[in-house]
Amino acid sequence: MGADSDTAAQNMIRELERQLHQKEAEIALLREITTLIGGETNLQKVFDLVAECARDLIHAETVTIPILAPDQSSYVYRAAAGRNAEELINADLPIEIGICGWVLRHRKPWWRGVLELLSENERNQWEKEAGTVILVPLVGKRQFLGGIAGINKTGGGEFDKRDLDLLSLFASQVGVAIENVMFLDELARARQRAEAFKEKLETTNQQLSRTNEELQHLAVHDPLTCLPNRTLILDRLQQAILTAKRNHHPMALIMIDLDHFKEVNDTLGHTIGDQLLINIGKRFQSTLREPDTLGRLGGDEFAVVLPEATQDDAIVVASKLQSALQEPVKVDHSSFSIGASIGIAVYPEHGVDPSSLLKGADVAMYVAKRNRDELAVYDPEQDTYKPDRLELLRDLRSAIQEQTISSAFQPKMDLRSGELIGMEALARWTHPEKGNIPPYEFIPILEQTGLIRPFSLHMLEQAVRFAKRCQQQGFELSVAVNLSVHNLRDERLAEQVAEILGRHDLEAALLGLEITESAIMNDPEHSLGILTELQTMGVQLSIDDFGTGYSSLSYLKRLPVSELKIDRSFVHDMTQDSENAMIVRSTIDLAHNLGLETVAEGIETTEILEVLQGMQCDMAQGYLISRPLAEQEFLDFLASGKWAKHTRRRDRAENL
Ligand code: C2E
Ligand code: MG
Ligand code: MG
Repeated sequence: MGADSDTAAQNMIRELERQLHQKEAEIALLREITTLIGGETNLQKVFDLVAECARDLIHAETVTIPILAPDQSSYVYRAAAGRNAEELINADLPIEIGICGWVLRHRKPWWRGVLELLSENERNQWEKEAGTVILVPLVGKRQFLGGIAGINKTGGGEFDKRDLDLLSLFASQVGVAIENVMFLDELARARQRAEAFKEKLETTNQQLSRTNEELQHLAVHDPLTCLPNRTLILDRLQQAILTAKRNHHPMALIMIDLDHFKEVNDTLGHTIGDQLLINIGKRFQSTLREPDTLGRLGGDEFAVVLPEATQDDAIVVASKLQSALQEPVKVDHSSFSIGASIGIAVYPEHGVDPSSLLKGADVAMYVAKRNRDELAVYDPEQDTYKPDRLELLRDLRSAIQEQTISSAFQPKMDLRSGELIGMEALARWTHPEKGNIPPYEFIPILEQTGLIRPFSLHMLEQAVRFAKRCQQQGFELSVAVNLSVHNLRDERLAEQVAEILGRHDLEAALLGLEITESAIMNDPEHSLGILTELQTMGVQLSIDDFGTGYSSLSYLKRLPVSELKIDRSFVHDMTQDSENAMIVRSTIDLAHNLGLETVAEGIETTEILEVLQGMQCDMAQGYLISRPLAEQEFLDFLASGKWAKHTRRRDRAENL
């Protein structure tokens, strides 16, 4: 018995010693793990370590670490060690599923001992495997994290209360460390996200400022020519004025309007017109210096701001701009001779703010265009010359509607016989408030707005009716009407002319149509068709203002015209200006060689009349013979006065 009890005591001591060793080993392992984990900052490594250590600690075949998702609706095995670890890792499961789900929902550990806590349903489901699974919650200082699960005891058997205590102790030791590393990890990821966001923000910012720059550029540049637009020009003008004011020096503004650009655009199309504007913009730009700003104000209008320039400097720049157009401008395979009218206004003489300088340069440009000069400097006396176009247009519309634009008739004399053989109908508009408005002010507006077509028909009607009236009174005179380039594009023109002649019962031969040289040259091929149609009807055609355009002799030869009217700018001073006299003489010779008759316009003195007779000019028109007259005045003039005896009269008997 004594030996037995000794043996029993020895066994007990041995068992206690074994338990002590085991405890010491477990404590050493726990300490080791806690140190290991405490020094680790990589979250995945921490999870892996925890799984490995837990497996050693409780001798489990497999250990997993289920971690709750932030929204607590699911959990993920963030680590697994042992059997099937590979398959389990990263599996994502809803919180309602499995023993894991139960632990995470109830926040209680799992081992066989919990069976009595389960609902009957759960117990039936898990009773069999209750002992092969052990699961303890993993809790940090701030939150519930998930759990540590052991599956199957190595070598068979079940997990017992001791395993549970050990794993719980382990979990409480590592919970806070895991929470800290998770927190660090979350922080690092948040930082990364912030970095990425910052980068994206920077790129977006860069893109935004680029778009902004583009928008800003677009807002102040003309998209066609890429030159500064009106807004930027106004701004530069304002700046130049301020600098000039500060430094007590002058500055100048130049405005440029292309001659006959509208016709090119209308006849040849916008593509050619656009290209022409681009090329002309480049030409202008190449003549300017660095501080000068060239811009496009719109349409065919350009402007140049010269920040430090006197009037003389501006004139030099303007002449350079003019010379830039001397060479024809090429577009595709065609070349265009484009002229320009230039107006100059200077600070401070002509204005001290942008709007008065703009207005001054605009008035000067208008004067240059009207005088057919290349350039003009603003002169305050000319202010009234520039009509307010919008106002005029409104009044013109009603004048046309109410047919208050009348005709004056200027006689045409045969220089060989001295007979009055014809007359020209000229439009006369007496504005209710502004008085007489000359044709050069309102005809261009009619042309630009398309009102010229109905207006020309109205003039034709009046002219034909009056010619008939003259005829009825015994004066056989032809009547000429001025047509615009727009009429030459009207396919129905010939038909309408025939209709008017028919209605008034006038022979076609008594009607003449005057077309300016530039109108014909605008689209020679097309004009040719319509002119031929008119000529076939018996209507007389003449080229008006000859010498001011760019006729091509080859076209001139083909045109079905019978008359050239020499522009009065060559005639009026031909007794003083030998060059003009020569031009008149050669025009007469040229016309005769082409089988055409010549009419000299603007004859104001007998001296000129005689010179023209000497040059074999066929016909004459001018103030010397008579100013344009209203219908009744014209009839009175025919019936009496000094030229009456020359008038070609029909035998009255013929009319009876
Ligand atoms: P135009 O067809 O060359 O007409 C001749 C112009 O010279 C007329 O000016 C006439 O009054 C003016 N004139 C005639 N003799 C003399 C003279 O001895 N000395 C001076 N200094 N001038 C003289 P007006 O009536 O002012 O017409 C100017 C232009 O307006 C016309 O030039 C013509 O191109 C255009 N025009 C006039 N009426 C019409 C019209 O009904 N339709 C169209 N499309 N254009 C018209
Ligand atoms: Mg005329
Ligand atoms: Mg003329």
